Amino acid sequence: MKTPPLLLLATLMMVACSSSEQTTQYPTTQAQNLPTTIVTEANSPVKLVVGITVDQMRYEYLLRYWNDFSEGGFKRLVNEGFSYNNHHFCYVPTFTGPGHASIFTGTSPAHHGIIANDWYDKTAGKMVYCASAPDAEIKGIGTDNPGGVMSPQRMIAGTIGDQLRIFSNMRSKVFGISMKDRGAILPAGHTPNAAYWFIGKGEGNWVSSSYYMNELPQWVVEFNQKRLPDTYLGQGWDLLLRPEAYDESLEDVNPFETPYSGTARAAFPYDLRSLMEKNGQYELVKSTPWGNTLTIDFAQELIRAEGLGIDSHTDILAMSFSCTDYAGHQFGPHARETQDVYLRLDRDLASFIDHLDQTIGRDSYLIFLSADHGGANVPSHMEKLNVPAGYFRNGAILDFLEDAMDKEYGTADYIENVSNEQVFFKYATLSTKKIDLDKACAFLSRKALEFDGVYTALPGANFRLNEYSEGLLSRIQDGYYPSRSGDVIIIFEPGWMDYGKTGTTHGSGYAEDTHIPLLFFGAGIPNGASYRYSRIRDIAPTVAAIINSPLPNSCTGEPLREVLKK
Ligand code: ZN
Ligand code: ZN
Repeated sequence: MKTPPLLLLATLMMVACSSSEQTTQYPTTQAQNLPTTIVTEANSPVKLVVGITVDQMRYEYLLRYWNDFSEGGFKRLVNEGFSYNNHHFCYVPTFTGPGHASIFTGTSPAHHGIIANDWYDKTAGKMVYCASAPDAEIKGIGTDNPGGVMSPQRMIAGTIGDQLRIFSNMRSKVFGISMKDRGAILPAGHTPNAAYWFIGKGEGNWVSSSYYMNELPQWVVEFNQKRLPDTYLGQGWDLLLRPEAYDESLEDVNPFETPYSGTARAAFPYDLRSLMEKNGQYELVKSTPWGNTLTIDFAQELIRAEGLGIDSHTDILAMSFSCTDYAGHQFGPHARETQDVYLRLDRDLASFIDHLDQTIGRDSYLIFLSADHGGANVPSHMEKLNVPAGYFRNGAILDFLEDAMDKEYGTADYIENVSNEQVFFKYATLSTKKIDLDKACAFLSRKALEFDGVYTALPGANFRLNEYSEGLLSRIQDGYYPSRSGDVIIIFEPGWMDYGKTGTTHGSGYAEDTHIPLLFFGAGIPNGASYRYSRIRDIAPTVAAIINSPLPNSCTGEPLREVLKK
């Protein structure tokens, strides 16, 4: 039907009116969503961000150990802060290096390049370590251990601390500390004031590298001179609570835990001093609760000596508790030893939070706490409970696939390396035998499915040529860095690992390795909890939003809006 001209005119006027109303209303509506005053760099209420990573902390530990926690540690962070209860890693593999890098860069291995703790460097033709310094000029500081030469140079992306340092014209201070070098170096980023870590070989000291400094500051020298590792090891290790309190864990001696070297059984109480004398290394501190205590001692001294949280420029201290991971690997997630490490960390956290209240002030610091990955149940324990799980050997995959290539293409040396469940072809052999790389990848991907425990296998090229937005393939893609990752990527079924029959590990893209806590606490953080799915890469942009700092340079996460409500 033809519209009468007058009616058409009236309709047009109405549209014009309503759209002009919308344009006049639009800025008002927007303004209501803005904070009443724009928080500027100079008056940001957050003087210190303490970014805590608890190595290998599964989310379920918060629930399972809850009744044995004190009021001032994990419970206080949850009860007075905000808890994301469905927080996950969204890539494979879930290891320490990638985890720490992802938390602080706000992106995934696909962009920050830390694809594992150690990976096969195709150009160099050797395994490289995520925090080792590729620059030969760099030296260890405070250590003559050749394994102590470290830097963040293999990480491609910048961290929240890097952006804050540049944004503040280097007036904000940024430090990273951990018993593990990678747990200190990657979170601190490329431009920090310093990163410090603990070396158990030799005297058992906090050290650094010439990437950051020419010599240890006097306060670190004096801290090392206190010989706290001796004091702590001298105390031994017994259960914190009465034995009945550990009914969330298996009996003290069980078949799924690994005893300390030099002992027959993993049983309390531990005479750590004599164990240490047998092994002659302070490395032992790392798999006891005392390494976490020592990390807090060091953090408090660093805050004091470096004057963190004093001026108007927000500072960042990234601290990672490594002992939870060493204990998890050694004893498994259902051991009393692991539970006791968490209960003692809880008490240590309580005193640390108290210390921050007194020194920085309750409304002037922000804590976030998460983990670098979860951890799997011990497969031999699961097999006992009829839960599907299993073990494989990396070397056995290599033999199986090499054999398959020999049968298909004639005997030769086809595979250069298998690591992190990724296969690297020997390109020279493929070229000599005129075998197309894509065809060889497709063949091996199909063949790998015949190996016991393999769920799927895919050519790496898939992840260069396609874009996956969800599901397992997107998790593989988020962990895939084109020039570093393998030619064929293998994924095992849940509960399978390349490990001994006692203790456990992590690395998969399944929930027991991806589901970890995320707690925010302190200045301006509302009290609450959310079960909304959130990703590890969302932490850094959320912190950036809270402290009014730019996003890390290749951030792919999104700020978590619940904690940004004013
Ligand atoms: Zn870890
Ligand atoms: Zn680990």
